Amino acid sequence: MPRPQLPGLNHLTVNTIFCIGRNYAEHARELNNPVPENPVVFTKPASSLIFDGDSIAIPEFTNEVHHEVEMVVAIGRDGKHIPEADALNYVAGYAIGLDMTARDIQSRLKEKSHPWDLAKGLDTFAPLGGFFPPSQLPDLSNTRLTLKRNDQTVQDGTTADMIFTVPNLIAWLSRHFSLSAGDLIFTGTPEGVGPVTRGDRLEAQLGENLSTLSVTVK
Ligand code: ZN
Repeated sequence: MPRPQLPGLNHLTVNTIFCIGRNYAEHARELNNPVPENPVVFTKPASSLIFDGDSIAIPEFTNEVHHEVEMVVAIGRDGKHIPEADALNYVAGYAIGLDMTARDIQSRLKEKSHPWDLAKGLDTFAPLGGFFPPSQLPDLSNTRLTLKRNDQTVQDGTTADMIFTVPNLIAWLSRHFSLSAGDLIFTGTPEGVGPVTRGDRLEAQLGENLSTLSVTVK
């Protein structure tokens, strides 16, 4: 399957999809997880991506799929060992996204200290809205992210509550991995995660309609 172009950033093709777990203290607490000392990092395959208007497909082997609304950062140029002070120069754009999670599978994996890929990297489990350039974002350190499930607001957070900021995350990731243009970073979810069922409509938003995403569940 060819890697898709990033919506709104058509010069970039999706490369690695990094995701950050437990980056909002209230969300860590709602799942009885400790607040981490360093970023919790996992990745998703490109095959997990879907876009505005697409549908999330719940596989038959899970009975509990949760929504996690997250701000997504697109990396615009290659880098390694990027200093925090320089990190935002590597950002090509921001978007809203969903880190869909089979919570029942994840719980079983966590019990065995296994990786989370089988719970989070499934087909259609990374819905992604359209990107906009950093110059359009009024305040990176206080940007609202919301999710409506069937017209009811279920998540309403702000990047002000992130434990690790975007510059923290870019610097940390680039200490461990070579970052490339087209990499994505799902930056973690605020509290309010919960289950979705077939027939649901999910509408996510970053800022005041800066990036929007509408998907259904089937
Ligand atoms: Zn997440």
